[in-house]
Amino acid sequence: MIVILFGAPGSGKGTQAQRVAVTTDTPHVSTGAILRGEVARGSELGREAKPIMESGALVPDELMVRMIESRLAEPDAERGVILDGFPRTVPQAEALDRMLGRNQREVGLVLYLEVDPELIRERVLRRAAIDGRSDDNPDALAERMRVYQRDTAPVVEYYERAGTRIGRIDGSPPIDQVTEQILAVLGAEPAR
Ligand code: AMP
Repeated sequence: MIVILFGAPGSGKGTQAQRVAVTTDTPHVSTGAILRGEVARGSELGREAKPIMESGALVPDELMVRMIESRLAEPDAERGVILDGFPRTVPQAEALDRMLGRNQREVGLVLYLEVDPELIRERVLRRAAIDGRSDDNPDALAERMRVYQRDTAPVVEYYERAGTRIGRIDGSPPIDQVTEQILAVLGAEPAR
């Protein structure tokens, strides 16, 4: 099944996507992680994406759609994937639907992690101190939150209109409890 882990920056989607991917033995596809890999390798895409990511803005849809299309064409994605950080705009969601539709596939579930904005700020600034992610500074965070509200939040409404199944998850509790809620929605057993 194609599952989208959706939420604001700092909502915990990366952490949860990774856990759910391991428990359900499904590939975790994080566009942010792929981009960070490109930046680290110094590829052409990485060089283009780096300043955009550091400012907190979004990488152009066209590049992201191409990236996800080639990732979904890999053999391990045939059984399904956990998408983390994609789609982040309505045009990306539309492009994803078109590309899945060509192979008689569709988005099976959107897991929407809902977290209070103040808690998000605390989490992201803490992550900045631990991981040293260059876009986890107060200015880039403010921009990422603005971009989220303007461009990304409407993606949930897009899936609501399309009649896609949406699981709303309270992302505020400790990590394990959030994972339990997600696995319950997926009907999967927690890993022991
Ligand atoms: P993330 O790790 O998901 O928070 O992504 C980090 C950064 O990568 C974002 O702030 C964007 O600059 C860029 N990015 C990741 N995914 C996308 C996407 N689907 N569309 C546009 N930009 C993206």
